Amino acid sequence: MRRCIFCGRTDNEFDGRNQWTVEHIIPECLGNSTLILRNVCKQCNSNLGTYVDNYFVNHHFIKSSRQFFQLRSQNGVIPNAFQEGVTEDGQRIRVDENFVPSVVPSIIQDGNKITIHANSVEEARTMASKKLKRLHATPEQIQNYISKIDESLFQELQPEIRYDITLDINRFLLEALKIGYEYALLKFGDAYWDDPTALKIRNRLNCAISGKMQDTCERPPEASYVPDYLMQGLSRTPLIGAHWISITSTLHNQLVAHIILFFNPVSSFQVLLSEQADCYLENGQILEDFVELPHKGGIDYDKLQEYTGRQSCPK
Ligand SMILES: [Zn+2]
Repeated sequence: MRRCIFCGRTDNEFDGRNQWTVEHIIPECLGNSTLILRNVCKQCNSNLGTYVDNYFVNHHFIKSSRQFFQLRSQNGVIPNAFQEGVTEDGQRIRVDENFVPSVVPSIIQDGNKITIHANSVEEARTMASKKLKRLHATPEQIQNYISKIDESLFQELQPEIRYDITLDINRFLLEALKIGYEYALLKFGDAYWDDPTALKIRNRLNCAISGKMQDTCERPPEASYVPDYLMQGLSRTPLIGAHWISITSTLHNQLVAHIILFFNPVSSFQVLLSEQADCYLENGQILEDFVELPHKGGIDYDKLQEYTGRQSCPK
């Protein structure tokens, strides 16, 4: 019988509006349409989006990969990770998808002095005239003032733009935990449901999707960044238009997933799935999937083999 891999409910336990949905193990907006599950209910799926996926997929680091690989959001738009920054002196700058900067128009009054940030003399004059009208200036005063706008102060805009980026690593690890847990359920089905580690992971994810981690996200002990030997390989590899996810066992009989997104060190994780790997895998066995990205994708298989050190890459 089909039950939701998060809340455990079956069809006849659903309330009126609940139903089965397609859950993307790696978020759909990262270019995944093949690695999916059909046993996640609508309520859990929607809360996963709100409380787990959103932070991750909209973070500057992930957005810039989505932009680089031209992955469209559900609304059809390629995200722009560099949309808004600030200059050294705090002026807000917009950057379009072709990396052309423009100032965010602003007008600041300080006593008798008015400072205008605009993209053209024309724009500055229009803004000044509106402002002066609001200050009840006469048409003559307005004319007099805007004729004095000093055009020589206009400069070609080549600002040094600053982006303030904060990263809540715990929220990145929470996303990794979700991906690893779902992938294990895809591969092992019900056999994995009762695993003691699966239970811990499920409880943690249920805590997140109930909204309890909205303010502060606890660090999930089962998830981490990939170990050094993988990280070193990744930092030598240019971004590859694919994701790679695998499950293997360690010498200590632990079952671990490696989740390598965009082949980028900032989005590459390890998740401990079980302390009893021999219940799931033969010795030395590896389960893996590649998700090739649709547009700029195109995997360089030589580089991939060099990185993974194996011959099993798909062709
Ligand atoms: Zn559910």
